[in-house]
Amino acid sequence: MKNLRERNQIIEYSLKLNSTNLSPLRSGNISLRGIEDDAEGYLITPSGKKYETLKPEDIVFMGLNEEEEKNLTNKPSSEWRFHRDIYVNKKEAHAIVHAHSPHATAVSSHGKPIPPFHYMIALAGGDNIKCAEYATFGTEELSKNVIKALENRYACLMSNHGQVAFGKNLEDAFELAQEIENICHQYTIALKLGQPKILSFEEMKKVLNKAKNYKKG
Ligand SMILES: [Zn+2]
Repeated sequence: MKNLRERNQIIEYSLKLNSTNLSPLRSGNISLRGIEDDAEGYLITPSGKKYETLKPEDIVFMGLNEEEEKNLTNKPSSEWRFHRDIYVNKKEAHAIVHAHSPHATAVSSHGKPIPPFHYMIALAGGDNIKCAEYATFGTEELSKNVIKALENRYACLMSNHGQVAFGKNLEDAFELAQEIENICHQYTIALKLGQPKILSFEEMKKVLNKAKNYKKG
């Protein structure tokens, strides 16, 4: 089977979505950039299947130019469109994890960016974590909103929906999604105590410079 190793890796991380509680039941989806029959595209979890039942042949390959779902036995996740658009717009994206993780989803329902109440906000790539405006799942409009919120970022919240993170491989993208969930958990606790102190633009600039050098090293 083509891309067998990659298909198995997607299954491994899909199971982790459930076992780490990052995305319960059938929610969330995972993809990996790949090539099949000389076509550039991505492998993505299928629509409506329980993660524990997934087999390598259930993972769907979609070309980057494909606008429509082919008449396949396995349909790709209904949220394939923003995965495709992230791969088209972000050359550095090689894997994507989308999750309805509890705290990120709760924070996303406020439809606001997360300010730098903690310097680890920098993990998402800037001095805040943006929140994509709400649109119905699977639509072109939602995909456009996600791309906008990912400008200069590796992850964002999706209003009244969840979060999405990308990385250079699946391990990287999954870890970032876990970090976003953790930051959102901390933020909800901080908000219960009142308005948290927010780090200044200058302070966040220092952190972002450090993070850049750290990545280089
Ligand atoms: Zn979703």
